[in-house]
Amino acid sequence: MIKRLIVTLSVALCSITVHATDSVNILVYHHVANDTPASTTISPAGFREHLQLLRDNDFTVVSLEDALAALRGDADIDLPEKAVALTFDDAYENIHTNAFPLLKEFDAPFTVFVATDPIDQNFQEMMSWDQLRDLQEWGATITNHSRDHDYMVRHSPLDDDWLQSMIDNVSHAQQRLTDELGDMVPRWFAYPYGEYNETLKQALLDEGYAAFAQHSGGMSADSDWGAIPRFAAAGVYANPETLITKLNSKPMPVNRDALPDMLTAETRPSVTVEVTDTSNMGRALNCFVDSSWVEAEWLDDNRFRVTPPKALSDGRHRFNCTSQARSGSFFYWFSQPWLVQTDR
Ligand SMILES: [Zn+2]
Repeated sequence: MIKRLIVTLSVALCSITVHATDSVNILVYHHVANDTPASTTISPAGFREHLQLLRDNDFTVVSLEDALAALRGDADIDLPEKAVALTFDDAYENIHTNAFPLLKEFDAPFTVFVATDPIDQNFQEMMSWDQLRDLQEWGATITNHSRDHDYMVRHSPLDDDWLQSMIDNVSHAQQRLTDELGDMVPRWFAYPYGEYNETLKQALLDEGYAAFAQHSGGMSADSDWGAIPRFAAAGVYANPETLITKLNSKPMPVNRDALPDMLTAETRPSVTVEVTDTSNMGRALNCFVDSSWVEAEWLDDNRFRVTPPKALSDGRHRFNCTSQARSGSFFYWFSQPWLVQTDR
């Protein structure tokens, strides 16, 4: 009886602290170079500035491994108050050439999500398996970004055959990674282009993967482990001032079971967000549909709704909402990604 009481109590305490402090903000980069597409690129000088900015503002760069373990409740690992994890998608060679020396200099752990076919086919702009091993030997984590980096849910029909071929795709990449890099490769997956739907997400969770998306926001134990948010930090998002605001934010505590599927056939999809703990959250919401500010509507004490003022085009869109904390100089952050496909 006492044992049960202690367990119940610790679970209750755990769910309280999760909202307060136990979160990590994850950044996603692609290219670190001077001559690659602007929207997914930060210059080596800009990247050095980011690492210095983190250091100067008392952030701790943690490995994604430690961050996930701490959020899973591993008692041996403490998540520092201002924890940040760094990730790089696609395994471009410029990460080895330009980012790796800086990451070593700042002693900053990092993760690379790799699509394996381009490595197997020796694509010129990609790292080789030897270069990936080089990063891994230093302590970087190398993991799964699919076999071919193709769109995963822009298919029709999204039936059992489709789902099986997606799982086969991910399994093939995982096998190639473990063949080349050994058993240290964790079961993590980053969706190409950050696109997924509920069916795919659930299937990956069932296969034992933690899966990463590309919408903004921090991660806590309460987050959706099948669509973990990451803040873009390159292109227009590289600005140090806005980056600091994001890095200081905490995930808005919401009922994620009530959130809609990313994939929608609606052109004006609205989202109703149920905030599970409003005790420290201001009522004023600052919401954006893509880059346009929109008025969010409180339906009652705990629920607000965001609706796009006009039709969204086919493709990816994001709603972002922030709210200033009543205590502390940080924002709570909520993000809903959309993939609009009107022809389904
Ligand atoms: Zn990618």
